[in-house]
Amino acid sequence: PENTAVDLHVYLPEATLMMQRKAKVSGVDFSLIIPAEIPRVMADPGQLQQVLVNVLNNALQAIEERHGFEGGVLRVSVSRTPPDLVQIEVEDNGSGMSRDVLAKIFNPFFTTKAPGKGTGLGLSVCHAIMDGMGGGITAQSREGKGAVFTMTLPEYSH
Ligand code: ADP
Ligand code: MG
Repeated sequence: PENTAVDLHVYLPEATLMMQRKAKVSGVDFSLIIPAEIPRVMADPGQLQQVLVNVLNNALQAIEERHGFEGGVLRVSVSRTPPDLVQIEVEDNGSGMSRDVLAKIFNPFFTTKAPGKGTGLGLSVCHAIMDGMGGGITAQSREGKGAVFTMTLPEYSH
């Protein structure tokens, strides 16, 4: 990856702009929370955007599946995990996943979507990208309640 110092305060509003629009036109309540004290991270901006678009698209699809977008909530929030990591959490109130599904979502070609609607490659690619940047991606979920995807990245150190 082409890692550089990335200021999430500047980067995230831009990198998620298309997905914010997609959420808003669908009537989904989108919010982005980045506390002022969050330091810069080391990341490849293009690859990180690919991860964010994948995760946000999945969230919107899960919301549509549960609500038909009505009452959908999508939250992106950033926090620090000392000593040297920053995490980006993407939380939705969509369909959620069973334990069985959750255990397989990072496997290549695993999908619960109808043929033609999903390749099952999105999250396996996200996992490889986050690993390659020295970070990671994990997921938590309750079926029928929603899901939280957590992406971690190393802080930039001068
Ligand atoms: P695809 O989107 O093509 O199915 P992904 O690798 O992106 O492939 O996701 C794999 C599976 O993980 C999805 O088919 C879905 O079952 C589950 N999944 C991913 N994100 C969410 C989410 N936010 N809420 C519920 N299920 C999800
Ligand atoms: Mg996907």
